Amino acid sequence: MALVQTEAIVLRTYNLAEADRIVLCLTRSAGLVRGVARGARRLKSRFGGALEPFTVIALTFHEKENRELVSLSQTEILKSYFDLASDPSVAGALAYMSELLVEFAAPHEADEKLFRMVSACLSAVGDNPDDVQPVLRYFEMWLLRLSGFLPDYRSCSECRATLDDAGIYVNAESRPRCHQCSRGAGTLVINETRESMSATQKLSPIEFARASRSLTAAAREQFADLTHRLLLGVLEKRPRTSGSWFPFEVNTGASQPG
Ligand SMILES: [Zn+2]
Repeated sequence: MALVQTEAIVLRTYNLAEADRIVLCLTRSAGLVRGVARGARRLKSRFGGALEPFTVIALTFHEKENRELVSLSQTEILKSYFDLASDPSVAGALAYMSELLVEFAAPHEADEKLFRMVSACLSAVGDNPDDVQPVLRYFEMWLLRLSGFLPDYRSCSECRATLDDAGIYVNAESRPRCHQCSRGAGTLVINETRESMSATQKLSPIEFARASRSLTAAAREQFADLTHRLLLGVLEKRPRTSGSWFPFEVNTGASQPG
């Protein structure tokens, strides 16, 4: 039985039996981990408030070979975002982040970049909860990129022509194409959206959120539309926790070519 110590972000908890909890967390050194916190629902639990969603903790757990479920032994709160949960729109956005992480993060596989990205996004929301929407765009872009699902918007996905000076046209799946390949069927990505998308790759979430405050409504909507279509393409379903900012229903029909 191996003892693992790592930093972790609590994503979700479920009740188990009379006094226990199943805890799902994103860890720095072991990726997505599902564990049992024995006695966590007792009044004087050793876990205290450490298992509230989105608490950043120093976690110690026992791992058994060939057992997916680990056993949580110690937790220490490093940073609590408990107060964010009182704002329903922020709480909803965090639940959405958590759902996407459960879908995208690899179980028991360290992903330092993903962990750092999620920590930085949380810290940006903590810094200014009003920035939660731009932080979500940042999170979605990076989640797609780190999992290999973000198309390269610098070149046409069909003929590979550089799209630097020519416009970028996107189809319903948010794939980038040149004017010629789109044959007039795509949506032109406005410059502001394009610049904002590329800013996610250069700035921290806090810097990006600040820069996004001056975006026009058209660019915000287009950006959200792009990332949500990409996510729908990967997940093949609308995230259960997504709110009004995620306006699409899954297209159950065959996807249209072109
Ligand atoms: Zn092309």
